Amino acid sequence: MSAAAVPYPDQTGLTVVIPCYNEVDNLAHSYAEIVAELGEFDLELIFVDDGSTDGSLDVIRELATSDPRVRYLSFTRNFGFEAAFSAGYRYASKAWVLHIDADQQFPAAEAHKLIAAAKAGYDAVFGVRTNRQDPMLRRWGTAAFHFLGRRVLRIEIPRGATAFRLVRSELARRIVDLRLGTPYFLATVPRLTNRYTTVPVAHRARERGESKVGMSFLSSHAIELFVGFSRRLSTAASVACLLASGIAVLLGVAGATGLLGGTALTATLLVLLAVALTALSLTVRSLVVVGAGQPRPRQYYVREASVAVDEADLLLCTSPTREAV
Ligand code: UDP
Ligand code: MG
Repeated sequence: MSAAAVPYPDQTGLTVVIPCYNEVDNLAHSYAEIVAELGEFDLELIFVDDGSTDGSLDVIRELATSDPRVRYLSFTRNFGFEAAFSAGYRYASKAWVLHIDADQQFPAAEAHKLIAAAKAGYDAVFGVRTNRQDPMLRRWGTAAFHFLGRRVLRIEIPRGATAFRLVRSELARRIVDLRLGTPYFLATVPRLTNRYTTVPVAHRARERGESKVGMSFLSSHAIELFVGFSRRLSTAASVACLLASGIAVLLGVAGATGLLGGTALTATLLVLLAVALTALSLTVRSLVVVGAGQPRPRQYYVREASVAVDEADLLLCTSPTREAV
């Protein structure tokens, strides 16, 4: 099909996916902004409650009751934002998915820029923050992450891409259904298609609530990407381990044969050090090389939803479901 013949959100409709974890003060504002800015489309809003404990789910239920365009999924616990948006993509019913955070940091009006860009023939359009309104540490962290990921490890990630994005639902679902051991959406899109692009978008500071994404999550997520999407780090780990084992063996031999002189105790300590170094380096290697990319059992479980959910995604014992599951 030629790019011109491919239907776009204004012809096919749009599912807006809003992941939320303890966003009770943001939800009504976020909903109002989305429908005000994008109400012209055949719209579906999917709120994904990622195990909130602050009453977010009650607000989402109210929104769903008063507006038939609103749907929701609620997780049995907090599974992390990657799981939250993945579930939203999975159950999107329209042909295009717009991902927008619940905290209004990405103005909904900016979605029009993504839609306009998609019309040039893209399957995925990522917003790039031109004036990012986050703390300096976060901005530096992202810069380091992109430098390491893109430049050093040569992982293809759309430059500056964020979670604010418009993706053809078929592509988004394909990626979710892969159920990757390292579910890194930004790096997976370029593995499936080259029809993606980026667009500069405005960004706002968070006005209500706190960021839910901590440094420990961000760093472990980055390591998952570095190990799962590049062989460079695992190759470097293997080489370092081989060297460490080699040195350890030499030390052990030198200690055992008395080449380094010293007492029997020194020799025994050297042999023990050699054994410990070898064991340590093999453990690190197996963690980095073998552990990378192992499939995970599941990314999330749903306890309640207003859409029909696959049985495999459900875990109903934690609370009763409301409908249609
Ligand atoms: N979020 C989520 N699960 C989590 C963490 C975050 O669903 O475990 C949601 C959160 O409610 C927000 C979006 O993901 O709608 C982005 O999170 P946040 O604004 O905290 O991230 P930041 O903008 O600081 O990177
Ligand atoms: Mg935010």
